[in-house]
Amino acid sequence: MQSSPLLTGFTDNPYFSAGFGLIGVGAGLAVLRQGVRHGLDFARRQLLVTLEIPSRDKSYPWVLHWISHAKLARKNSQHLAVETTYKQHDSGSVTSQFNLVPGPGKHFFKYRNVWLRIDRQRDGRLMDLTTGNPFETVTLTTLSRDRGIFQALLQEARETALVKQEGKIVMYTSYGPEWRPFGMPRKKRVLDSVVLDTGIQDHVVRDLESFIGNEAWYTRRGIPYRRGYLFHGPPGSGKTSFIQALAGHLQYNICILNLSERGLTDDRLNHLLTVTPERSFLLLEDVDAAFSQRKQTDKEGFRSMVTFSGLLNALDGVASAEERIVFMTTNHLDRLDPALIRPGRVDLKVFFGNATPFQVRQMFLRFYEHESSLADEFVQRLAPHGPVSPAQLQGHFVVHKDSPRAAVEHATDLLVPAADR
Ligand code: ADP
Repeated sequence: MQSSPLLTGFTDNPYFSAGFGLIGVGAGLAVLRQGVRHGLDFARRQLLVTLEIPSRDKSYPWVLHWISHAKLARKNSQHLAVETTYKQHDSGSVTSQFNLVPGPGKHFFKYRNVWLRIDRQRDGRLMDLTTGNPFETVTLTTLSRDRGIFQALLQEARETALVKQEGKIVMYTSYGPEWRPFGMPRKKRVLDSVVLDTGIQDHVVRDLESFIGNEAWYTRRGIPYRRGYLFHGPPGSGKTSFIQALAGHLQYNICILNLSERGLTDDRLNHLLTVTPERSFLLLEDVDAAFSQRKQTDKEGFRSMVTFSGLLNALDGVASAEERIVFMTTNHLDRLDPALIRPGRVDLKVFFGNATPFQVRQMFLRFYEHESSLADEFVQRLAPHGPVSPAQLQGHFVVHKDSPRAAVEHATDLLVPAADR
């Protein structure tokens, strides 16, 4: 067959035939590349398994800390991030600790003879508005046949985190719509370290214990499974300390909510109360400061957006059938609206007063064991004078911690207002 002169012209032209050749090679390569990509995707799907942990998940900090704790990634990683934990002690001293955790990017490590890849990625656009931190995800990848390793890893990470918390209580505060641990877990406070007047400790502990084990009793009678406590009395009488000691004794954590917090609304309050972590007390401190006789007390202007009826609704919480233990504290019982402290919202009111002679003696003996005659002398010196709070006594004994005699001799220093001492 005779080819057209036009076509013959093209095929005879060496430039054109080279061009066609190149196009052919390019197309071939593209197909090959596509094939390889599909092949790799297929292989990845078949051979690899990934576990994605978003930063919103509880296990996220556990996993990061476990990896840094086990020093797994550190050996092989060149990109680390520092997380500093900072703690101010009651004495005012500060301790801090640096943890090196895998930084954003990819890291490889070996765990129980299995290679894993960690990929820590920051979401550049999405931000957790409550903390100001970008959202992150950690993705762990390994071979499919080793998928069981994830379970073991998560378990170990959780156990490591829980061991750190053992013997401690976790304090939670609200961040936006959720509860987050606040600071490091705190050492439990022994119940007897809070010296109360005779019978108070036993009474409250017995009340709580009989509540905690008795869910069935409440449900059978259709009563909401809740208990409310109100501790009232002057500042420094041990209300907060006793709640912490109770939490330690019963292995509970504490969720502290400040009702005067800026931006707290009825809806958020309601939501927070329904999502309190398991085994935790809800603590509303200084309830009188947020509301007094149903008005929001704020001299400088509007502070909290929680309304009194919003608080009552949240406390009554129709939505929740879960166990709820609420503690409220106030220095001014008389300023509270009776609706807030009626049975069902507050089931037990306990007065914490200034130190009675019994408490003064007990506290003296806690600081200076076996010094009972000096303890009596101390009580006698203080007796004719005005009331002293346990917090003041504690301060006095700390000043004279090495000399019970000096504590007795300077007993009347306690009666001088702190500012003039
Ligand atoms: P409140 O909550 O009544 O204002 P806190 O519990 O905050 O008082 O106590 C303040 C400080 O005083 C704490 O360091 C605590 O150890 C000490 N303290 C107060 N009351 C007692 C008490 N009854 N026994 C022992 N220590 C006490």
